[in-house]
Amino acid sequence: MPVTSDLLAASPALRFDVQAQNGEARAGALTTRRGVIETPVFMPVGTAGTVKAIRFEELESEDLDAKIILGNTYHLWLRPGIETIKACGGLHRFIGWDRALLTDSGGFQVWSLGDLRKITEEGTEFRSHVDGSMQFLSPEVSMEVQAALGSDIVMVFDECAPGNAAYEETEKSVGLTSRWARRSRMAFDRMQVDGADIGHIEGPGLNGRQALFGIIQGAGHLDLRRVSLEQTVEVGFDGYAIGGLSVGEEKSVMFDVISDLAPRMPADKPRYLMGVGTPEDLIEAVANGVDMFDCVLPTRNGRTGQAFTSRGKVNIKNARWVRDQRPLDEDCRCVVCRRHTRAYLRHLYLAGEMLASILLTHHNLAFFLDTMRSVRQSIRSGDFPKFRREFTQRLDANGE
Ligand SMILES: [Zn+2]
Repeated sequence: MPVTSDLLAASPALRFDVQAQNGEARAGALTTRRGVIETPVFMPVGTAGTVKAIRFEELESEDLDAKIILGNTYHLWLRPGIETIKACGGLHRFIGWDRALLTDSGGFQVWSLGDLRKITEEGTEFRSHVDGSMQFLSPEVSMEVQAALGSDIVMVFDECAPGNAAYEETEKSVGLTSRWARRSRMAFDRMQVDGADIGHIEGPGLNGRQALFGIIQGAGHLDLRRVSLEQTVEVGFDGYAIGGLSVGEEKSVMFDVISDLAPRMPADKPRYLMGVGTPEDLIEAVANGVDMFDCVLPTRNGRTGQAFTSRGKVNIKNARWVRDQRPLDEDCRCVVCRRHTRAYLRHLYLAGEMLASILLTHHNLAFFLDTMRSVRQSIRSGDFPKFRREFTQRLDANGE
């Protein structure tokens, strides 16, 4: 029996309109209580209330123009703690960001603690990486924390099976994820009614409440993925995510899951691929009908001296750039590429200057966001297959 409460059915927490389609690829608009987001969209990851090495002004600048970023329930809950964020008026006010925020549920983070956590029917017990204390996260706690953060899109608390998990183990994990999805939905609805959502804001045609996304699990087993999809849709959510990919499985397994699953997901709701991936992964997933992405790659790799460019990856440490007067990417119009050479960026990196991380992160985010802009345009003009072919060919140039 669906557990979606009628209070959310009257007027929705968000709207999603598919405006153009090229094969399975779709371009659309996701209207949240904090603005309209054109899809397909890439969401920069702001784990601890900051997208690492980049200022919010830059995220809002024309270069990047990120319409939505991620926050991380697990990290913010442990530090600075939910009472602190509540006292500071919720996550938007605390970090100084008025645009949309999506928070993950913490499920993936506690799962990735490995031996440091214990999963039961009730939830997950684990040791905090901050102070070593024992902590307990469950669907109810996760919904409570995300309501206090006041994010615009909330994720259900799920259980992730490893990418290469055996059938029986995965089957159990899918069952647990489904029961947790139901508990998440019920706790979420209760908290919306109780006014626990710190970020509540009225918007035209929207009910001002948080939106809740379900997560489909099932590792590399396509039949279990379909079971998980069916059970998740039965509960009823504002959007649906594919979880548990890019967790150690082969790339071919990942794409088998995406190509089988994404087109079966509800067509009138946003489809979100969690934690994936490289620019070429994003394009392939878009071709299968995915609308939303997040990944730490552009920011994390930026801090380790790796740039994503239209001609493939550039490792800025490489001696061949020592006097190279070219920008990171000759086709990129970001402020870093307009102003600085590879030679200078290499020098900054080798000298251990923090500006190296800042500039590489900026360019990488610009490249990811710009790629999605081109993807949207090409879908709207009916040229996505051509764009996909040319984009992929250019990447093979290996930075040259
Ligand atoms: Zn650039």
